[in-house]
Amino acid sequence: MINTAYRGRFAPSPTGLLHAGSLTTAVGSYLEARSRGGEWWVRMEDLDPPREVPGAADAILHTLEAFGFQWDGEIVYQSRRHALYRAALQQLIENGRAYPCACTRKEIAAAAARGVDGPVYPGTCRRGLPAGREGRAWRLRVEDRELLLQDRLQGEYRQNLAHDTGDVVLLRADGFWAYQLAVVVDDAEQGMTDIVRGADLLVSTPRQLWVQQCLGLPKPGYCHLPVMVNADGEKLSKQTLAPAIGEADIDSQLRLALIRLGHRPPADCHGRDELWQWALAHWSLSRVSSGPVTV
Ligand SMILES: [Zn+2]
Repeated sequence: MINTAYRGRFAPSPTGLLHAGSLTTAVGSYLEARSRGGEWWVRMEDLDPPREVPGAADAILHTLEAFGFQWDGEIVYQSRRHALYRAALQQLIENGRAYPCACTRKEIAAAAARGVDGPVYPGTCRRGLPAGREGRAWRLRVEDRELLLQDRLQGEYRQNLAHDTGDVVLLRADGFWAYQLAVVVDDAEQGMTDIVRGADLLVSTPRQLWVQQCLGLPKPGYCHLPVMVNADGEKLSKQTLAPAIGEADIDSQLRLALIRLGHRPPADCHGRDELWQWALAHWSLSRVSSGPVTV
């Protein structure tokens, strides 16, 4: 049974190979989609070439395939969708929401208070560029009011962007599209109904809700899965040297991912396909922890 009312996705960045954290997120988003008869798509978020690792995108897809993930539709590559992001920025410029910003990272850091995710942009260029300066980035005006997210796993989450982040970057000073713009444009253009991803992205979700509102786009459902952390409590990532997932011993890696998501397969459940079958039959978000899980 295909439930066209549910469309989810897994959206890795090819800045490294899959590790235990990203694999677990993929497993959670896959099970959440498939257990509801929904679609599950893969989108490669390759918008940051300086940080990307050559060959990582293909390696990630190969690993997903080896683990038995079956995705719907064609793989979408953000690097081939610049026209969509440009059109969205144009719309925000035309409706007076977006403005050019000349500030350097250093200037912002010197002038800004610390927010929930780095310095709060102090609004220097909001009323026009300072004399003699040229725009480097584009920003989106935010409003001084609370945005509320009802997350299916994390519960209520609130931010006031004016105090927590300041005006949101849409196009970065280095010429690359900001994640906050691209992810919103893609989720809407691809008709995503449910965003299931790691809780490290919870902090950026209110900015995405605001970009959605300013573009007049629908708001999908959100579910932020627990972050996988190492013994020191650091999020598993390339920066914390999380080891890449190999294609040896797929069964035990898949079993571990399920256990981290609160689903322990019985000991007599063996093999990749049998594990998936068991997981699909037993998947329940109510068994997934909302807090960090130590790997
Ligand atoms: Zn500025």
